[in-house]
Amino acid sequence: MWRLLKNGRIFAPEPIEDTDVLIVEDKIAAVGKSLFIPPFAAGEELDLEGQILIPGLIDGHVHICGGGGENGPASRIPEIQLSQLTEAGITTVVGLLGTDSVTRSVGELLVKARALEGEGITTYIYSGSYRIPAPTLMGTLQEDLVFIDKVIGAGEIALSDHRSAQPQLAELERLAAEVRVGAMIGKKAGIVHLHMGDGERGLKLIWELLNQTEIPITQFVPTHMNRTHSLMAEGIKFLQAGGHLDITAGCDDFPAELQVPAVLHALEERGLLGDRVTVSSDANGSLPQFDPQGNLIRIGVGSPAVLWRDIRTALLKYKLPFEQVLKTVTANVADVLRLGSKGRIKAGNDADLVLLDRDYSLRHVWAKGQWMVQDGTPRVWGTYERKIQG
Ligand code: ZN
Repeated sequence: MWRLLKNGRIFAPEPIEDTDVLIVEDKIAAVGKSLFIPPFAAGEELDLEGQILIPGLIDGHVHICGGGGENGPASRIPEIQLSQLTEAGITTVVGLLGTDSVTRSVGELLVKARALEGEGITTYIYSGSYRIPAPTLMGTLQEDLVFIDKVIGAGEIALSDHRSAQPQLAELERLAAEVRVGAMIGKKAGIVHLHMGDGERGLKLIWELLNQTEIPITQFVPTHMNRTHSLMAEGIKFLQAGGHLDITAGCDDFPAELQVPAVLHALEERGLLGDRVTVSSDANGSLPQFDPQGNLIRIGVGSPAVLWRDIRTALLKYKLPFEQVLKTVTANVADVLRLGSKGRIKAGNDADLVLLDRDYSLRHVWAKGQWMVQDGTPRVWGTYERKIQG
């Protein structure tokens, strides 16, 4: 099946003027001027009428098999459904476990990732969870990285949080070393994805680890860095030291200056909105709130829709450069996590594409060449999404 997308304004994420995109099966076959479908091929042409075509979004932090559990069995969050992701413009997702790796397992996570892949999108996972030693499928993180294609690192390892396993420095060093060597043998990014809580220690253990070992700073991707003012300040230091910065969308209860649009604006003003800044949704996580004594006072569930919602707000409210902001949910994520054929509109890459309306709202979504969402409504549903009988 060939599909020719004509007359779009392409942000690949860099702007490409006056260009068509030709999809053949699941790949972008060509990006160029005056492309056509050869007469012998079955295909369709679509006039994009000058609307904006961007790469499919990559969400690097989603609890695909359900997070939560901080308030007992009834607070376990169900598995995410395919259309929740595709309607949010997300065509690649990295799944992970959080607080609960007792009633959840890396095996369950892997199979859920395979299910979503079978339903049409692209998935990766982190081995491990909040806990240390990290739960794995094969017995060690190294083996998971080497033998399981979808495993790109360990996460989310919780630090400076009352729900953390409170790892000692030596334990963290061994974990990072394990991931580093496993990544080399398995040819992966080998990320140690750190869940940062609001504890005063912040990244203290990671700074110590970097001082005491030869492990490079680029191995670590700390997330939820917009959780507090002091963590945000430390995140900027980490970024300036050559590290990565991942911030979490949808934090509507946070002070405005810590929410994604304002943080992107502040980073841009300081010239820091470069290639190592990424945004993720924490979708299907539980968003619990605790009082100062550590008692749970509220629990909710995160939506993947906040990813593009916050990016769109950053574009509309602060008029930030489109390409720079778009990169935080496309090319930057692909580069940091080494997802080779993702995050860019270019020949040879997977045909993961999103068409935006003029007001930057999501209109069409294609994943690996398949038209998943048309005019904001799913065309493809997950296996059981529409089969639940009343
Ligand atoms: Zn987290």
